[in-house]
Amino acid sequence: MTNKGLLQTEGLPGIFGEMESEVRSYCRSFPAVFRKAIDWTIWDSEGKAYLDFFAGAGALNYGHNNAMLKEKLIRYIAEDGISHSLDMATEAKERFLRRFRRIILQPRGLDYKVMFPGPTGANAVEAALKLARKVTGRTDVIGFTNAFHGMTLGALSVTGNKFKRQGAGVPLPYAASMPFDGYLGKDADTIAYLESYLSDSGSGVSLPAAVIVETLQGEGGLNAAGAQWLVRLETLCRKHGILLIVDDVQMGCGRTGSFFSFEPFGLQPDIVCLSKSIGGYGLPMALTLMKPELDVWEPGEHNGTFRGNNLAFVCAAEALRYWENGEFEAGLADKSALLEARLKEIAARHPGLQGKRKGRGLMQGLYFPENGVAEDVCRAAFRRGLIMETSGTDGEVAKVMPPLTIDEASLLRGLRLLEQSVEETANNRRSIKIAPKAAAGMGGARI
Ligand SMILES: *Cc1c(COP(=O)(O)O)cnc(C)c1O
Repeated sequence: MTNKGLLQTEGLPGIFGEMESEVRSYCRSFPAVFRKAIDWTIWDSEGKAYLDFFAGAGALNYGHNNAMLKEKLIRYIAEDGISHSLDMATEAKERFLRRFRRIILQPRGLDYKVMFPGPTGANAVEAALKLARKVTGRTDVIGFTNAFHGMTLGALSVTGNKFKRQGAGVPLPYAASMPFDGYLGKDADTIAYLESYLSDSGSGVSLPAAVIVETLQGEGGLNAAGAQWLVRLETLCRKHGILLIVDDVQMGCGRTGSFFSFEPFGLQPDIVCLSKSIGGYGLPMALTLMKPELDVWEPGEHNGTFRGNNLAFVCAAEALRYWENGEFEAGLADKSALLEARLKEIAARHPGLQGKRKGRGLMQGLYFPENGVAEDVCRAAFRRGLIMETSGTDGEVAKVMPPLTIDEASLLRGLRLLEQSVEETANNRRSIKIAPKAAAGMGGARI
């Protein structure tokens, strides 16, 4: 998701261009009509196969049409299991809650009440912000530079991207943006900076209800917060009685290598937002987790029609099978290490592009400082049958985020396609740079 949101502008001919709003974006980056998908492969209507290094922006961590989930889902539908239920109690929800507590929360020593907001990430964020304000009686929330939290007004108020913010069409008050880890350069201590704002009565920043943070900024350019930075942020929040919200909408469900992205740092966020892959099958579902003492909602004070997507509950409960023992997680560690090594290699082979590896887990990418390079790489990749998107305000990172279930051979095959795409981009850039000199003689001949 870049500033422009686009890799190319023509989009698709026919009904899409005729009828669908200009707001459409991914269909412009990936101009094909898709028909079918299994695991990490997608086919278009002409039968061309693509390797998916995009995974529905993180909604397909367990792959397309995952066979294990599909079987449960088909059986549930065939037996006329409840599909839509508002927030009534259903067997599907009961199974999900039991398994989520037993497989995810308890082994990690986490104690959260579970709220089902509307089924998108933005819904989970809005609920979190509302709750933090209600609990503390304060109005403001601190977000970070380059953060992405969704498209609704509350979520936009703590989102960094100027283009997205302008879309609001109204001021986005009750929020302040502070520098993320590394934003002011490698040596600047942005926690000390934040601390000085919170401690000083002359700073002009009021004590916020909450701080909302991503441990790794998926849309904002794959900026990873350091372990110490996160731990100190949590300590700072505790000291000032500020609630810590971790937006794990994209990085949760294993994307960075552990179920929650904050596990390696031992954080205990007050509120956690989950969506994207929690429904397992790409089905809409979201959770706002809160420490039990924060559950001050009145019944029905926050609601929504689509909080009971039971088809998602069925798949969500089943997908937790991947987390029942350590095998899946160990596999993620191996694949992440492989990805890291290959990306470093690719960057090193094309020093002219000044590429740099970023990110962690199966959310890594190549940062290219020069404008348009990452977009060119993704465009070249698409021509080779590899689906990748860019990340960052200026689309400066080519992002690799395959389904977590991908096998090593396919991961390596995709990385070979990426390497060829980087090579092609490097060659094109070189010839463009050389062109003016060569053209001096040829130009005259042509005229
Ligand atoms: C995608 C995303 C959201 C918004 O989720 P939607 O389902 O698009 O509303 C919020 N936060 C983060 C970190 C995300 O990646």
